[in-house]
Amino acid sequence: MPNCPECTFRERKKLKMQFEAEAEKAREEDAEYVMPHDRDIGSDLEYPMKLDPSTKHFICKRCGLYATREQIFDIRDKLNQRESTKEDKQYDYLEWWQKSKKDK
Ligand SMILES: [Zn+2]
Repeated sequence: MPNCPECTFRERKKLKMQFEAEAEKAREEDAEYVMPHDRDIGSDLEYPMKLDPSTKHFICKRCGLYATREQIFDIRDKLNQRESTKEDKQYDYLEWWQKSKKDK
């Protein structure tokens, strides 16, 4: 059964924020803290969806998402894309800022 993309995404985000908060705290206390790799965060999360055989749709009991397998992949792609575009934008801004500083 596929994992619910919405629930996995939401929980991953929560976990990531927790790790970031812990890293921040460790920094303040001068302690060692190894942030887990993005890829590993939430890799063991499981929100299996239930198949409705009559409609060939998957249902998430947690958030109520109702979708076909294709739609599930689509949603997951979109959610991941949204994350990476956000990071790209930050990077672009930084680059622009550094360039504009050089020009002066
Ligand atoms: Zn869900």
